[in-house]
Amino acid sequence: MKSVSQLVNDEFEAALNLLDMLIREPSVEGSAAIHRCLDIIEQNLRPLGGALRRPEYDGLQSLLCDWGDRSQKSRLLLVGHTDVVPPGESWQTPPFCLVRQDGLLTGRGVCDMKGGIAAFVAALRVVRRSGGLSDTPVSLIVTGDEEVGSERGMVPLLRDGHVRGAWAICGEPTDLAIFTGNRGVIWLRIEISGAGGHAGFAHALHNPVHQAADIVTKLHSLPLTMRDNRFEPPEPSLSVTWIQVAGEPVTNIIPDAVSLGIDRRLIPGEEPKEAIAQIQAILDQMVTGRFEARIVIDRAIPPYVTDPAEPLVAAAQRAVLDVGRPASLGTDAAADDSSWLGNAGITTVLLGPGEPLQAHATGEAVRARDLRDAIEIYARLLMAARDGQIDNQGRAA
Ligand SMILES: [Zn+2]
Repeated sequence: MKSVSQLVNDEFEAALNLLDMLIREPSVEGSAAIHRCLDIIEQNLRPLGGALRRPEYDGLQSLLCDWGDRSQKSRLLLVGHTDVVPPGESWQTPPFCLVRQDGLLTGRGVCDMKGGIAAFVAALRVVRRSGGLSDTPVSLIVTGDEEVGSERGMVPLLRDGHVRGAWAICGEPTDLAIFTGNRGVIWLRIEISGAGGHAGFAHALHNPVHQAADIVTKLHSLPLTMRDNRFEPPEPSLSVTWIQVAGEPVTNIIPDAVSLGIDRRLIPGEEPKEAIAQIQAILDQMVTGRFEARIVIDRAIPPYVTDPAEPLVAAAQRAVLDVGRPASLGTDAAADDSSWLGNAGITTVLLGPGEPLQAHATGEAVRARDLRDAIEIYARLLMAARDGQIDNQGRAA
């Protein structure tokens, strides 16, 4: 019988072919390519015998495939998304084409996170050839809107009970380190209106630019006292990321309204609701008279953290060490679906091929070697789940 490592090498070319097909689909937000990616994954899963489902919310499908006894509590979830962020214009290679050169795989989404998905599917194939998949309590979950907040993907899937399991591996790029948490994020806009007109009559107008400037200053000095040394950086942040006047900016015209863009990063112990209320309190205090202000929330993802003593973390470390890599722990400065899973009570780690900074980058690339090792790490974790070893490893540790 072949070793796991040999089986992974056997499956590697097929994984590259799957990745190639996925990268060819320009699956940015709102495009039909997202469903075509799910079709491609479904075709690859059919020979593996799992129970496939394609739940749909608001016109957007997700793909779920379950193996093993559905009632089994110790289920491991492999979680990914097919949507990618737009590539921008300064790529040296065609972004929606997988370029293999000098041990590097380049293309939009190779890290975030079609590489992770291709590795998941290859790992399932390896496990099928190495002792069987049908008794492995595992589900593959692939969504299509992670990059825009998961409102039609992971959030309703969890809410409606489509996603059930004890443990989850999110295949986001971590350079194959094990990330046990991520910061939360809120994106919101503050719309401030006053009374604009010819700047020669400024004395009779209510300039929202000045009001916005005062609000920016106040937000900038907002005390954010929470600390968590497991995160780098260990503190939350609030950044005013843009300021925009209503209509064309004209130097001698006071605009009627000004909008501010706010990016607020949260660490465990902070709640999106409370962070928004803190900003609302500033507006309530500062915005008076002829001025008005309102908050529009574009995205709010809670922070989450997994206790490093959890059995899943030990099992993941074991699998990473088994392929000869350092099983380092870390946390993610960004936010993703692991927050929704973690907050739903599913013990979750992030573990995937590619460096975190390559996500969304121009010329996004992953080392072919890392993709290969990801397959083996996932296969070893699946076998641990099949053999009831995830809990046992935790106890041994
Ligand atoms: Zn991602």
